[in-house]
Amino acid sequence: MEAQLKLYNTLSRKKEVFQALNPPFVGLYVCGPTVYDEVHLGNLRQFTSFDIVYRYLSFLGYKVRYVRNITDVGHLSDDGDEGEDKIERKAKANKIEPMEIVQKYTNSFHHVAKLFNLIEPSIEPSATGHIVEQIEMVQRIIDNGYAYEVNGSVYFDVKKYLEKHDYGQLSGRKVEDLLEQTRDNLEGGDEKRFFADFGIWKAASPETIMKWNSPWGVGVPGWHLECSVMSTKYLGQEFDIHGGGMDLKFPHHECEIAQSVGADGKAPVRYWMHGNMLTVNGDKMSKSKGNAFLPMELFEGKHELLNKGFSPMVVRFFMLQTHYSSTLDFSNEALEASEKGYARLMNAYKLSATLPSSKQNTEETDKEILTLLDKLRLEMNDDFNTPKTIAVLFDLAALINKINDKSVFVSEAVLSKLQADMKSFVEDILGLHSETKDNNLAVDKLMELILEIRSSARENKDWPTSDKIRDHLAEAGIKIKDSKDGASWTMN
Ligand code: ZN
Repeated sequence: MEAQLKLYNTLSRKKEVFQALNPPFVGLYVCGPTVYDEVHLGNLRQFTSFDIVYRYLSFLGYKVRYVRNITDVGHLSDDGDEGEDKIERKAKANKIEPMEIVQKYTNSFHHVAKLFNLIEPSIEPSATGHIVEQIEMVQRIIDNGYAYEVNGSVYFDVKKYLEKHDYGQLSGRKVEDLLEQTRDNLEGGDEKRFFADFGIWKAASPETIMKWNSPWGVGVPGWHLECSVMSTKYLGQEFDIHGGGMDLKFPHHECEIAQSVGADGKAPVRYWMHGNMLTVNGDKMSKSKGNAFLPMELFEGKHELLNKGFSPMVVRFFMLQTHYSSTLDFSNEALEASEKGYARLMNAYKLSATLPSSKQNTEETDKEILTLLDKLRLEMNDDFNTPKTIAVLFDLAALINKINDKSVFVSEAVLSKLQADMKSFVEDILGLHSETKDNNLAVDKLMELILEIRSSARENKDWPTSDKIRDHLAEAGIKIKDSKDGASWTMN
């Protein structure tokens, strides 16, 4: 395996990811969901990007410990530092226990993750399960002089930290800008000494439901703290890769660095990876704009912006057609194009298992295939470039079809390499599986046929037949929706 790792490091064009690793073991930490609501599509994209990182590093032979947390306390509104706990607010509104909210949305997150074929992390720790460790870390930061206590709350002392360290190294924020903002924003009566200071322990009010005893009184850990604690507890004080959405770079990840340096004198992460955001028809996806559909709404086509539903595997494939560091734009046209592309790729993949080999005239095709198989690795080594990897898979799909037509020929040895790599790259690395999709394809084709029959019945004003089809489908859990563009369907 050593040799193999060396080879991949040499092949890597963007070497920093691979050079950051500490073979053969790799620690990967990804900020998980705050379970106060259904997981949104932007989160799902981030988890998919790091699912690919996990899958590819495992394929290369690294032993990856993958930690993805569940935030079940401490995430306050907006930047995570002000206001009421998101979970608690929802629990109070519904008059139930915060842990009921946590359980409900953890379950539904796991359901979506399974549909999306995300590999389960090695450890999925929760913030409430690590209160003791969080209190200990706050104490270490205080002991080292990087935090101060006011009225039962503890704040990280950014000004003190700036004397020796760079707060802003990750996000590129400038100290001078922070100082500038301080003069504008420091209000009287604020417990913080400096506007950029952030809470690492918050005193609880009498109404707070989730709270714990600490040396500073009854309170709640700050949101940024849990990731510092859980990542280093399970991956060590210095670990390889920390991932998350771009929106977490500042303040969340910047604060994580400061906390670890403040507590243990070490910057925790060798390589940060940030995934980019989603847009819909070119607009930022947001609840207030009404264009933020949930994963299940996308799968079922239950949103006014969607012409129809798209299977989880099609959506996964669609996401992987854009590099994780670029913005991904959702539109009906783009999803429909991906649906066709996905079917084309999976058909070729299925076909690859049954191709004939030949004993002659194979030289040119063999060479072409081997070059493309090398290219698959080159593209993935290039900062996990899934769109280019998929493009190479399409080149291979074209060759597979030609071999099947017997217009070109492949030797037995190269064919078995091709078959093995198709499986590795399509199923193991990109995480696309054919079984469910094949069933869906069959259902899609059947429904197309049924809707066609129904539409011609309607053209002939044969209402009994049209109604019979609609009612029988409804009994089977399939709902037909008529609109001016024709009929569409959704399945329960
Ligand atoms: Zn985090």
